[in-house]
Amino acid sequence: MNKKTNIVRKANEMIEKPRDVGFLTKVSMYLVTVFVCLGLIIVSQGIKQHFVRELEVNADNLAKGYSHSLSKSIEASSVVEQLIHDKLLGISSIITDIDRDLVNQDLIDLARQMDVGEIHIYDVDEILTISNVEAFIGFVPPENHAVRDFSKSDMSFYIEPIRANMITGEFYLYGYERMTDGRVVQVGINALKVEKLISGFHLNNMLNDMMTHEDVAYVNYISSDGIIIGSSSGADIGKVLETEEKKPLSMALDIGEFQLVPKEKYHEFIEPVYLSGTETGMLLIGMTLDGTRESIKNMIGFVTFVFVMIYLAAIMVIYLLHDKNRRLFSLAYEDDITNLPNAKFLRRMLTYELRQSPRDKLALIMVHVPRFSKITMAKGYEEGDTILQDIAKNISAQDIEGARLFRYSEEKFMMLIRNYEEKETLVQIMENLSQVIPLQEERAAEKRYNTLAFGALEIGDKYKGEVDALKDVLIALNNVDDDGSKSYVFFDEVMEMNITRENLIENELKLAIENQVEDIIVMAYQPLIDAKTEKIIGLEALARMNSKMYGMVSPLEFIQIAEKNGIMADLGKLILEKAVTFEKKLLEEGYGIRVAVNISPIQVIQDDFVSTVKSIIEKADIDPLFIEIEITESVFLSNYELVNRKLKVLRDMGLLVSIDDFGTGYSSFSRLKELHVDSVKIDQYFIRRITKILPDELITGDIIRMVHKFGLTAVAEGVETIEERDYLISQGCDVLQGYYYSRPMFEEDTLSYIRKQNE
Ligand code: C2E
Ligand code: CA
Ligand code: CA
Repeated sequence: MNKKTNIVRKANEMIEKPRDVGFLTKVSMYLVTVFVCLGLIIVSQGIKQHFVRELEVNADNLAKGYSHSLSKSIEASSVVEQLIHDKLLGISSIITDIDRDLVNQDLIDLARQMDVGEIHIYDVDEILTISNVEAFIGFVPPENHAVRDFSKSDMSFYIEPIRANMITGEFYLYGYERMTDGRVVQVGINALKVEKLISGFHLNNMLNDMMTHEDVAYVNYISSDGIIIGSSSGADIGKVLETEEKKPLSMALDIGEFQLVPKEKYHEFIEPVYLSGTETGMLLIGMTLDGTRESIKNMIGFVTFVFVMIYLAAIMVIYLLHDKNRRLFSLAYEDDITNLPNAKFLRRMLTYELRQSPRDKLALIMVHVPRFSKITMAKGYEEGDTILQDIAKNISAQDIEGARLFRYSEEKFMMLIRNYEEKETLVQIMENLSQVIPLQEERAAEKRYNTLAFGALEIGDKYKGEVDALKDVLIALNNVDDDGSKSYVFFDEVMEMNITRENLIENELKLAIENQVEDIIVMAYQPLIDAKTEKIIGLEALARMNSKMYGMVSPLEFIQIAEKNGIMADLGKLILEKAVTFEKKLLEEGYGIRVAVNISPIQVIQDDFVSTVKSIIEKADIDPLFIEIEITESVFLSNYELVNRKLKVLRDMGLLVSIDDFGTGYSSFSRLKELHVDSVKIDQYFIRRITKILPDELITGDIIRMVHKFGLTAVAEGVETIEERDYLISQGCDVLQGYYYSRPMFEEDTLSYIRKQNE
């Protein structure tokens, strides 16, 4: 069971592991090549075996076919022996029967009658005394003559192998028979006659006959005691094949111990020959391999051709599949500007890597191109693409060990590094990479921007998923200072703490929104002062966060956290409700001054923004005239037309609208004309400059005049000093706000401030 799940896991891993398309193709190519090669080898081997087997069967059939005749042939020699024996017996019994002294004429008659060439009688002294051939009479055989050997022996008859007659030189087959009186009868049959007699069964003839068969190169007949009795070549007849003790002859023959011809040219087969049931010898058939070779060659040639065709077809199919997969892969996982794998692929890869255990040492380096969007805005997208391609090329050219580069987002690359040595290695990598400059020298607007910025993260064991790792490396990058003093930052504990701070603040904000903890979000109010009367005409509502964890948290921080985490719309609603409730209280106490509420762009773009504002005001049952909203110009960036229409609806209801932080963002006077707003709040930046810049360089007054030109009210915020107040009043500014008059105050203090003013 355990094993099975293990296998399943392994299989899943194989499937899940994100790979390049090339990998699969390589594997299939490899497999196809191996299969085709193996197949070819096996089939070739089969073909060879098939043909050798065929040859063997041929030899076998041949041997079997001749085996019968061969037995006959062997029988034939004994028949001849028998014949001579019979003749000998016949002749000697006739001679014995003649009861008078034999004369030569008797033997002449007998020879004719018995159809033999010679009949001689030797007396007891071994001298030829009577003969059918007169010339031989008186012949005294030499010492080693067969007659002498025979008469000394105790044999009753003996047949000598064919030999030449000592006197005439003609070849004869001689037989000897001892008569009762001790004399010896010799009968000789002319060899030619013997030959004629047995030619039909002649062993060598038969062997030669076998030779006429295709593929048969030579045939030998070997007796069971190892003597070559017959040979198609005739050369080796009489040779005795001696084997080692205990090794049967057939085995020695089988392994080619006696093979005289080259083994690679001839194949020898052994076939036993039986004579009336018992093995009398063996046929040794030598087959030439030439024909078989030729057939094998042709067949293998054909098969190879077929396999090559199959191989080519398979490769073609793999290539087409590869091409298709490559295109699909590139669509899904590749960035088409740099051809690098994209963020999606990185996430898959990271997910996979983080799931392994044990897993490789991993690090992420985020590579950021500063001011990239500015460059594309100024020089166009083509220039931007070229820059990205250059960077991708130059980073790849560094060929960093274990590293893989991804195009992560617009102006960010990501590098995943596996099995690096230590943190210092990463530092070295980033220092080397900072030599890669995004812009050509002459294109760089400012040198300090012409270097890449890096965020680095060592992915420790606490990281379980890719989301956290990607988030933290981004945090590290965000901690790189803009001044270019240091181009890389590692993610560390402090940043991590900041992150947990963000989470905790987010959680507290959620509690506040869900109305579970009353006093987390508290409103402070800062007076808006009429520049002419220097009397309070309104209040700006500024949210304060009283964190259980961190004490007072600046709105600059918690508003951003709310925006980032998708709770700004709800938080904004809460703030608006609190401000409207306070306004109702003011009105109930008889103070007809308005409250201005800061609205985040995220609130404005909500579909239900207008209806939400409307319902809150209606619920409090107050005149919309006493509510003002402050929005920044950035809100128009998203959908200018739609936002402007929403503002019109609100103004038609009676609300006031002002543009906050004017002059900092994407300010344009030309647009002021079209916007449905009542007043413009000039950013503190222009107020601060009043005491710092020479009067004739100051543009603050010009801004006020321009605002007036569009029929709008000019508001100055952040007025701290009397000089600023004097200047602004002298330039005709309508409304003033700042520490010079009052800091933001909580409700009670605000109320007593207003009461005092009205005394
Ligand atoms: P802001 O809308 O520009 O608000 C004015 C900021 O200037 C306030 O800071 C205020 O306390 C500060 N300020 C007022 N007079 C002076 C002065 O004479 N000198 C100096 N140096 N500062 C002065 P605060 O309350 O910290 O708010 C910061 C920003 O947070 C606000 O800028 C606004 O953008 C945002 N914010 C505050 N409350 C809310 C809110 O309820 N909703 C939204 N969406 N944003 C808010
Ligand atoms: Ca404001
Ligand atoms: Ca402001």
